[in-house]
Amino acid sequence: MKRELRVPKTNQVRSRIMSTIRSSGNTTTELRLIFMMRKGGITGWRRGARLIGKPDFVFGRQRVVIFVDGCFWHGCRCKRLPTEHRAFWRAKIGANRARDKQMNRRLRQSGWKVVRIWEHQLKRSPTLVMDRLERVLDDTVPHLQRNIKNGTHRLRRKR
Ligand SMILES: [Zn+2]
Repeated sequence: MKRELRVPKTNQVRSRIMSTIRSSGNTTTELRLIFMMRKGGITGWRRGARLIGKPDFVFGRQRVVIFVDGCFWHGCRCKRLPTEHRAFWRAKIGANRARDKQMNRRLRQSGWKVVRIWEHQLKRSPTLVMDRLERVLDDTVPHLQRNIKNGTHRLRRKR
């Protein structure tokens, strides 16, 4: 997911931030996942759907949304906060995390299953990511079908 940039404006800090962003490359990670899904035969997603929290991928039929979270911006443990402007970064990333949680909650309340994938997982454990996706997508369809059969036409939510 893309983040707006509002960073401290000293050149040194800014150039470090920019290099972080380049290395995390939002679009690149999304493209990586697309490539993996194609290779793994996973189809039926949509990008750029207008939905709460703007998920990166939406599987409408299965009611599954996927976010690919950049490790730095979303506060993954694999990244350290920059040593300069620590308070700023802690607040900034803390706000992002709080927002992520809130979006998860709102999406789940609307019947979506939310999957968040760390950028580092895509790079280091692509097989695990694909297994997880397949499981989530396979898992969801029978529930839908069952509920439609029962005439409720509503997604049963797992808690
Ligand atoms: Zn990470």
